[in-house]
Amino acid sequence: MKIAKVEAFPIWVGRRNQLLVKVTGVDGTYGWGESGLATRERAVMGAIDHYREILVGREAFDIGAIWQLLYRSQYFEGGRVFAAAISAVDIALHDLKGKALGLPVWQLLGGKQRNFVESFASVGTPDDDELIEQLATLAGEGFSCLRVAISQRAPLARNADDAADVFEPRLSIARNVPMLIRARERLGHAVSFGIDYHHELSLAEAASFCQKLPRGTLDFLEEPIRDETPEAYAQLRRLTEIPFAIGEEFASKWQALPYLQQGLTEFMRLDICNIGGFTEAMKVAALAEAHYVDLMPHNPLGPICVASSVHLCAAVPNFAWMEYNFNRFRPEPEINAELFPKHIRLDGPVFPVPDGPGLGIEVNEELLRQETFRYAETPKLRRRDGSHTNW
Ligand SMILES: [Mg+2]
Repeated sequence: MKIAKVEAFPIWVGRRNQLLVKVTGVDGTYGWGESGLATRERAVMGAIDHYREILVGREAFDIGAIWQLLYRSQYFEGGRVFAAAISAVDIALHDLKGKALGLPVWQLLGGKQRNFVESFASVGTPDDDELIEQLATLAGEGFSCLRVAISQRAPLARNADDAADVFEPRLSIARNVPMLIRARERLGHAVSFGIDYHHELSLAEAASFCQKLPRGTLDFLEEPIRDETPEAYAQLRRLTEIPFAIGEEFASKWQALPYLQQGLTEFMRLDICNIGGFTEAMKVAALAEAHYVDLMPHNPLGPICVASSVHLCAAVPNFAWMEYNFNRFRPEPEINAELFPKHIRLDGPVFPVPDGPGLGIEVNEELLRQETFRYAETPKLRRRDGSHTNW
């Protein structure tokens, strides 16, 4: 089936935008994809504009060839903007192909290897006692893996008289270490337990954080430092034995490769909406499998990202837990059910693997076309001396 139309929809969903991509075939069959480059949706839309010229008239089922064509179509290969655009197109093509053949997407990936996909739960609140209570509640509800999200604990990373955007890493470490020790004591060792430090530390700060924790406190440490330099993680590895969970910002198999080959991550945190869609995610999964590393996918976006991640996790042999961007102790609604009348729902701590054709999601296009993009930025944190630091 030839591709007739490629459309990009940036939509404000409250707090952030989502960039949805729809690919329609000549017979009217369509598929939905989502791009993961949050807060830079306009840049990805520009890439989609270029790719539309290449895609219309192509055979929609030739997904692997289309991936190669898009990736290698410009002289300057790679980069996060293009990878996020390719991801959305690749996911939409899988949805379209599944619908056209009457098969769930996992059937296009070799069939399913598990009956449900287990998620991990994230919590983050400034108050230590409240946080530990929330962790214990979730463990009681059956979550076998729990994570503290540092970005949601931001007010504890500074003194009360500091401005709202001030982040002091050493103060954050001093306050998080005793909380984590207490949380582990409360949870016991039947639950896997980790923290996402949201790449907010320097190498020395990350080493200090790790060395202040008793052995066995954490089952994983997610992104203590940024990931541009694998050698920095190699140095951090020499300074701690805590397993790492890295990879949510990777935009290709080539970025994942040194982390796997050099033993720099024990969990592969790939993001299907950024790494290059199903086509690239399956290859990274295979590279991880060869290094006895399980996937722990990043899944911070909307229902299309959720559904894509579920299909991916169902179809790979090496899987630990899947992220789900929902904190049930916060008041925000889980999903805009009006905009996404059909989506995959969490059932306790697990996602059931859907059996219907395609991804198993539907979008209310009337609503989609009414809502518009709004410019939105991530928090811009600074140190007390005024210098810029990571969020
Ligand atoms: Mg993270």
